[in-house]
Amino acid sequence: MPTLEAEVAIVGAGPVGLTLAIDLAQRGRSVVVLETRHRGEPPNVKCNHVAARTMEQFRRLGVAHKVRDAGLPPDYPNDVVFRTSVTGIELSRIHIPGRATRYSDTSGPDGWWPTPEPPHRINQIYLEPILFAHAESQPGVTIRNRCEATGFAQDDDGVSIEARDLDGGAAVRVRARYMIGCDGGRSRVKKALGIAFAGTPVIQKVQSTYIRAPGLLERIPGKPAWSCYASNPRRSGVCFAIDGKETWLVHNHFQAHETDFEAVDRDASIRHILGVGPEFDYEILSKEDWIGRRLVAERFREGRVFICGDAAHLWVPYAGYGMNAGIADAMNLSWHLSSHLAGWADAPVLDAYEIERQPITDQVSRFAMDHAQQMIKARGAVPPRIEEEGAEGDAIRAEAGRRAYELNVQQFCCAGLNFGYFYERSPLIVDDGEAPPAYTMGSFTASTVPGCRAPHFVLGDGRSLYDAFGSDYTLLRFDAAVDVAPFVAATRERGLPLTVLDIARDIAPAEYRHALVLCRADHHVAWRGDAGPEDPRALVAQLCSDLHGGGG
Ligand SMILES: Cc1cc2nc3c(=O)[nH]c(=O)nc-3n(C[C@H](O)[C@H](O)[C@H](O)COP(=O)(O)OP(=O)(O)OC[C@H]3O[C@@H](n4cnc5c(N)ncnc54)[C@H](O)[C@@H]3O)c2cc1C
Repeated sequence: MPTLEAEVAIVGAGPVGLTLAIDLAQRGRSVVVLETRHRGEPPNVKCNHVAARTMEQFRRLGVAHKVRDAGLPPDYPNDVVFRTSVTGIELSRIHIPGRATRYSDTSGPDGWWPTPEPPHRINQIYLEPILFAHAESQPGVTIRNRCEATGFAQDDDGVSIEARDLDGGAAVRVRARYMIGCDGGRSRVKKALGIAFAGTPVIQKVQSTYIRAPGLLERIPGKPAWSCYASNPRRSGVCFAIDGKETWLVHNHFQAHETDFEAVDRDASIRHILGVGPEFDYEILSKEDWIGRRLVAERFREGRVFICGDAAHLWVPYAGYGMNAGIADAMNLSWHLSSHLAGWADAPVLDAYEIERQPITDQVSRFAMDHAQQMIKARGAVPPRIEEEGAEGDAIRAEAGRRAYELNVQQFCCAGLNFGYFYERSPLIVDDGEAPPAYTMGSFTASTVPGCRAPHFVLGDGRSLYDAFGSDYTLLRFDAAVDVAPFVAATRERGLPLTVLDIARDIAPAEYRHALVLCRADHHVAWRGDAGPEDPRALVAQLCSDLHGGGG
């Protein structure tokens, strides 16, 4: 039986596995990806939001422009609107710039964000083929479709994976130094490792239907929207525009007593949410029912095997941050793994993945659950006279619209989830005694405290700061008189890739108070100071998880 060999084997070519494969390959690693789906087979119609942090990473991977060019038509509004039904009376609206003006429109609650790549609204069915093609085109990546991983065993040197060709039935064997389960919420890899999920298994059930309704757009009064929250005394639900023309995803949020997906009248619910009568024609393309949960794996690793994305955490998709958190996992793990495989970081660097990512995913899961509970409460309190004509009805709608806006702007414009999180207890980050600023789902305070995301700004030559970053560590120097030669020498001695960027202090935001700020590949600050590190070799040793603690 032929054995496929690679440094890293990935099980699952969903958005997380594909992003991981792309980054590993661009870092010079060889990768085999196993995927049960056919080549080109679309995923389920789930995720609709690619966060700014993910778009920043896609920019580094050279795929942001392709993603930005896909999805809804350029002039289709990306707003979130609150109405009595999809075709009913508008209560309020969150303005989100659409594709055509995404880089130029700085108005609205996420227009001001300090990022070179604002968020993008696109369904997973359009996103995944772009990621697949990009991954497939990377030298060093082999993707085996219709190939199911069935088992694995690890030893001191690597992992042997057993797999099955789903078309011919032939056995396939893969040998890799490390393996990553990106195999989704039902992860077989996670189960085989004996890792359990902890949390809340059921928060909310949602009967979800992907429909084709060519007549819907023309029935919507006023400006259409990417997402429409419909609230009336009969049903509350959400409708997402998928192609901006005729396909839609309709979520029917169940009430507490509704538990059986088939027992609730799907057609009647859809018509109540859309606000259309029996004469209206639509076609069901697929049923996409789902359960909102809050589950985070107790561990993200066992020896040479890791789990990433939905395999490691599942939560109710408020704030649209499931895939996005998984992609952040992937970029974190990819960098740690590559630094070790490239030889400049020792094996303990791999511990940083779980130490850094597990607490963040747990925190996001709690934000999402809290929001879900507030939404459940709001759906249970839809004013009975919300559709009434006249001044009293207007007043009821104005108040309902205000409340809906205030509650939901936090999840749709989730600046905190994008830019506020920090890695606190990481062995690769040097605590300097200042506490990172707290953040919420919707708000954050930019900071250079080690562990935080280095605040973005535009360089004197017009480039994004992040575009000037090196592949691994980047030292920002705001005072050319500060001597960094001993630190640079220590990094060279160890082989740690470092880029030094000299920047005029007056172009940086006020948060950059120190002469030196050392940033990681994922934009998080690792260290800062007003003079070079006192013991440069010791700092390099820490960044490399040096087993001998002495650098060199
Ligand atoms: C209704 C809904 C809306 C959502 N909206 C958003 C959103 O707006 N933003 C957001 O960030 N997230 C959202 N999510 C979550 C998002 O869809 C998931 O987090 C994302 O798909 C996870 O990606 P993944 O690659 O980890 O797993 P998956 O997408 O599940 O991919 C796993 C892959 O592994 C393959 N596989 C499984 N087992 C094997 C095996 N043994 N061998 C080989 N291959 C295998 C599967 O075929 C699959 O392709 C939403 C989810 C739902 C349900």
